[in-house]
Amino acid sequence: MTLQRLYPKLTDQHEEPNYPCVLCGARYIRVELPYDSGSVAPTVGETLTGATSTDTGVVVSTSIYSGAVADGDAAGFVELSSPTGVDQDAGTSFQDNELITGSTGGSNMMTVNGDGHLNRYGRLYPESSLVERDGKRYCTPHYIFRYTHIDTDEFEVDVTDDDRESEEL
Ligand SMILES: [Zn+2]
Repeated sequence: MTLQRLYPKLTDQHEEPNYPCVLCGARYIRVELPYDSGSVAPTVGETLTGATSTDTGVVVSTSIYSGAVADGDAAGFVELSSPTGVDQDAGTSFQDNELITGSTGGSNMMTVNGDGHLNRYGRLYPESSLVERDGKRYCTPHYIFRYTHIDTDEFEVDVTDDDRESEEL
C-alpha cells in the first residue's frame, strides 16, 4: 500500500540515491564569478566569456562591492546561469586574472578575480523519503497536498446521499 512509503525506512540515508520532488522544483546551478577592474556594467541576459578559458555563463544578477565602472575599477560579483566549462569535481569555472568579454559589454569589460564558484540549488531527498506515483516523485508534504483529496474523492464515490442520511439517523 502506498501509504506505507510516507514513513522513511530506517536506512542510512547517505547511501541511497537522492532525487528532487517534482513539486519542490528541479535543481538548477549558478556560477558566482568575482571580478575587479570592471569598466562596463554587466547587463542581465548577456553572455560573459572568459578570454582565456572560453568558459561562459549568462548574467542573472550583478553587484558592485567597491569602485565604479566609470573609473574602471569596479569590483564585485556576477551571478551566471547556464554555465559552460565548469570543472564538476572542483566546482569552479573561469580562471583568475583572465579578461571577460561580454556579448553586450564587449571585450575586457572586467577581470576575473579568483574562480567562478559553482552553487547548486534545489533540494534533493533520499529515495526512501519520497513517494513515487504515476512515474513522478513527491516529497511527503507535496504528496499529501497533491493526492489526498483525490483519494478521498474516489473513496466517496461509493457513498450515496441516502447512505449518509441513514448514518445520521
Ligand atoms: Zn516537494
